[in-house]
Amino acid sequence: MLSYRHAFHAGNHADVLKHFVQVQLHKYMNQKDTAYTYIDTHSGAGVYALDSDYASKNAEYATGIGPLWDCRDMPEPLAEYVDLVRAMNPSGKLRYYPGSPYIAEQMAREQDRLRLFELHPTDSKVLAENFRKLEAHKAEQGQRARGRRVMIERGDGFLSLKALLPPPSRRALVLIDPPYEVKDDYRRVKDALDEALGRFPSGIYAVWYPVLQRMESRQFADKLKRLPAKEWLHVTLTISTPTPDGVGLHTSGMFILNPPYTLEPLLRQVMPYLVRVLGKDAAATFHIEKGTQVTGAAAARTG
Ligand code: SAM
Repeated sequence: MLSYRHAFHAGNHADVLKHFVQVQLHKYMNQKDTAYTYIDTHSGAGVYALDSDYASKNAEYATGIGPLWDCRDMPEPLAEYVDLVRAMNPSGKLRYYPGSPYIAEQMAREQDRLRLFELHPTDSKVLAENFRKLEAHKAEQGQRARGRRVMIERGDGFLSLKALLPPPSRRALVLIDPPYEVKDDYRRVKDALDEALGRFPSGIYAVWYPVLQRMESRQFADKLKRLPAKEWLHVTLTISTPTPDGVGLHTSGMFILNPPYTLEPLLRQVMPYLVRVLGKDAAATFHIEKGTQVTGAAAARTG
């Protein structure tokens, strides 16, 4: 089923959480000179125009990047993500919002590789076109094109992941961000991670997911905790009380396997601010928990 279009949701509170974490994961990877491979199993279109019919339909960015846009007092790690969005809106008016492939393109270095998968025929074309424009723009400015370092493929990201692991440089950052419109996505994420960890145990794997009433969503994090990764870190952001009809997304989570040690302190610094600025009622909150794999059994610590 391919009815999901990320353009409807671009820049919402869930994108803010996901993309803030993504920026910080790239920053960590960039600390070492050795090249890494960034794999985006569910890439979307790469760039979103917030004044398009799609994005303006529900104006979901008003729950996320919208309220952050004019904030000048945010913690530095959050500002690094907002500055990246600002840089693609040089007029100062919020018109464009970056998808995860664009963020990777901006954060990764010459030596790094981007492997981007998108199954939707239209979005995969738009993604390729957005990267073509980006390369042309860079060439105009005399910057070296990334060329073959970026590979964009119309295909199933779950199936494509395993063939890329382990990566040549033995360093990888993987983002898994499916639509979860079909409940099978939850199972497929877990299975893909299980296989990926078997092939490449030391990769950093980041999974976004919606916290919903459906059983698959409620049990999802607990299932990921039992995967054979050395460590995991789990963060959720709630912006408001769920409506009785269950419509709308109020909470989302990022689950990171093999998280960098730098990430938890950054989350503790930034999440209270996000709750304050994006929270809509008294239910607004965040949770951070982490755990280690101790001889086959996961030991968790919540805080
Ligand atoms: N990661 C993107 C970002 O942060 O900007 C957003 C991705 S969006 C949540 C999920 C995307 O996955 C949609 O564009 C959808 O068409 C695509 N998709 C759905 N099933 C897929 C599959 N099996 N393999 C690759 N892409 C898929």
